[in-house]
Amino acid sequence: MDKCSTTELLKATKTKMTDARSKILNILLESETPLTANELHIAVSDSSSIDLATVYRALKVFVEKGLARALHIDGETIYYEKACEHNPLHAHFHCEVCGAVECLNPFGFDESSAFMKMAKDKEISSVELVIKGRCSKCV
Ligand SMILES: [Zn+2]
Ligand SMILES: [Zn+2]
Ligand SMILES: [Zn+2]
Repeated sequence: MDKCSTTELLKATKTKMTDARSKILNILLESETPLTANELHIAVSDSSSIDLATVYRALKVFVEKGLARALHIDGETIYYEKACEHNPLHAHFHCEVCGAVECLNPFGFDESSAFMKMAKDKEISSVELVIKGRCSKCV
């Protein structure tokens, strides 16, 4: 399967299904790059009148249920991306010139065990790693 089904993900995580939630989740599943709440809002409002507060509430639920990751990339805007099997944990690159955010290759077994080792007696709920600099267009 090359894409998760919105309905099945919501069902599997016992998340209440609403029209707005399925639409928002579907955009996250289809996007290859992290999106901000504003970008998601613009994308859903093409087809229906869902307000920004609804988008924020849905995203909060998705993060709690492990369907999405919240990324604190530049300390201001929060970005969201799918957290299903099609999008394993990875670091992000943030261009300090143009603001572009890029997903890097997924962490392999070695990197993952390194994180586990660093936090040995702790319970990890999320790992965020942001590499900053200039992207290839801005060098
Ligand atoms: Zn998926
Ligand atoms: Zn750039
Ligand atoms: Zn990413």
